[in-house]
Amino acid sequence: MHGPEHALGVHRVLEPPGVLPQAALRLDADPAITADEVRIAVQRLNLDAASFRQLSEACAGDGEAVRAAVLDIVRTRGKMQNPVTGSGGMLIGVVDAVGPESPLGLSVGQRVATLVSLTLTPLRITDDLREWDGRSEQVPAEGTAILFARSIAAVLPDDLPDAVSLAILDVCGAPAATARVMERSGARSVVVLGAAGKSGCLSLAAARSAGARQLTGLVRNEQEAAALRAAGLADRVVVADATDPLAVAAAVGEAADVTVVCVDVPGAEHGAVLATADGGTVVFFSMATSFPAAALGAEGMAADVTMLVGNGYTPGHAALALELYRSTPGVRALIEPRIDS
Ligand code: NAP
Repeated sequence: MHGPEHALGVHRVLEPPGVLPQAALRLDADPAITADEVRIAVQRLNLDAASFRQLSEACAGDGEAVRAAVLDIVRTRGKMQNPVTGSGGMLIGVVDAVGPESPLGLSVGQRVATLVSLTLTPLRITDDLREWDGRSEQVPAEGTAILFARSIAAVLPDDLPDAVSLAILDVCGAPAATARVMERSGARSVVVLGAAGKSGCLSLAAARSAGARQLTGLVRNEQEAAALRAAGLADRVVVADATDPLAVAAAVGEAADVTVVCVDVPGAEHGAVLATADGGTVVFFSMATSFPAAALGAEGMAADVTMLVGNGYTPGHAALALELYRSTPGVRALIEPRIDS
């Protein structure tokens, strides 16, 4: 029987000693499992949107260079954690081996999505990612990944294509966090920044089903505005650069009870604060969020807003997001074109 630190995967940390896997520079990705671990035969990675954008921009859109950069990160670190954004993503695969003491309830042969971040998942790639052109967030891959005892995975639904499940499950924390804030605070108005993206449109749908009555979706251009209007998820669609605080404030107009930040670029903190009414809440789901920019920005504007870090995990988050996708044609219309199957 192992101690509690084993369940968190501390035995897999190679450098520096004593930290948890997420904070580690390097993990041991050896496919041999201990008694409470599970090994997954990897089929596809979903790179976090902020991470993929950063890598693409750093490589000037050269897919071959992006592929080489991802391979280098995984080989060097034993996990897929972008050193610039700090973010990862998640993966799907087939359960390949289950230790006798694993509490996760998985069986060999089940097809699953890992719902813990790639930033703490020991990962070994064995196919050089040769099926990937480096131009999409979703990465066909072969190799092995390890789940610890204190971990979480969802069995993949039979009724949706894998690429769709992967894309939705990657951002399933956003609609769950939005619904929870709306329900707990009794808020009625919500602004979503990056509303035509995957987490953005799911958050709008979650806010609507949690009782929101004034939904504003902020997007970056007329093309996205047309798509969001056609999807029918928002009462009002406005166009502004989320990284331009004054433009956001002008576009949003009357500040909302809740603002959800779903863009995949840095610099949306101040606009989000300005879009939020006094006593309201900002949910920073974006991994490109800066804690100092958010905290000091709110202080500097004397804004009495509660700021939440969008936790990727909320109980029931996977089922909620999949159900919103199935039941909301507008969500499907926005997400499907973003997925290359
Ligand atoms: P996505 O589908 O790419 O959506 C992002 C949206 O933001 C896109 O519509 C994008 O427009 C828009 N956008 C980008 N720059 C903008 C700007 N300056 N002004 C207005 N809109 C802008 O991304 P996603 O998968 O939903 O992910 C969104 C964020 O969630 C990312 O930062 C990701 O890292 C984060 N995330 C967090 C967690 C967590 O656990 N907290 C988990 C997964 C992902 P274009 O398409 O035109 O670029």
